[in-house]
Amino acid sequence: MAHVTPVEDAAARLYRVLSHEPASLFSDFDGTLSPMAPTPDGAALAPGVRDVLRALARRIELVGIVTGRAVNDARERVGVPELLYVGNHGLEWAERGVHVDHPVGIAAADSISTALHQIGAEIGSTLGLGGLVFEDKRLSGSIHYRLSEDPVTMGLALGEITERVAIAHGLHVASGKMVYELRPTASVSKGTALREIVLQRNLRSAVFLGDDVTDVDGFRALRALREGEGLPTLAVGVLTPDTAPSVIAESDLLLDGVDDVVRTLNALDHLLAADRIRATELES
Ligand SMILES: [Mg+2]
Repeated sequence: MAHVTPVEDAAARLYRVLSHEPASLFSDFDGTLSPMAPTPDGAALAPGVRDVLRALARRIELVGIVTGRAVNDARERVGVPELLYVGNHGLEWAERGVHVDHPVGIAAADSISTALHQIGAEIGSTLGLGGLVFEDKRLSGSIHYRLSEDPVTMGLALGEITERVAIAHGLHVASGKMVYELRPTASVSKGTALREIVLQRNLRSAVFLGDDVTDVDGFRALRALREGEGLPTLAVGVLTPDTAPSVIAESDLLLDGVDDVVRTLNALDHLLAADRIRATELES
């Protein structure tokens, strides 16, 4: 059984890591800040998240959302413009009005669109399209099968077709919670994005929260920064009923679902606020 860290202990660990400034805090969106929804369109931030992210962005040098969603989609759902948004699994970045697409992603946009159509046609002629949600996110694509009648059978058939079509188009497949992701390459990930951001901006600490297999790239990048660069980092896994073993194995601590994430971020904000009050008292 995975060992869950109590909220107060988790907040204290985040606080200790983030005391190395300039600090950075990054989080995945779906399943981490928003409860898993039946369809990608139905996902919304858990209550209280927007306020605590806004508060943390004032106290921490850099707060970012790192997601498989397209940047515009994530930014609308989170609704805190002062954050950094990394979308499409590291292929797209936006911050304060500046938007950057990875050239590898732009080059693959047509292949992704064609491959999604081809996968739809093939699965449509065998198992049917019932319960499937295809998302063309421009620089990557997703096929969700959570709502299909028999997700196990659908997952197997869809996985085989997706893999074959992806290879034909020179694309890469990653799987997550009832979803296949079509990406231009495995060499750009949430992990490569996190590493680049932390090193380029000379950040002295980093925390990343995530719940799914693609977040494990981020967890590993944080560990590499710790072991290779000596930076204090913390990989926070979020447990749900269908958490992959790699999320549990590769995280430094585990929180029990989105509710505990919200409580931990609020407890962290209180610790950082108390800091601010002490500093003001010392100055006066
Ligand atoms: Mg997630």
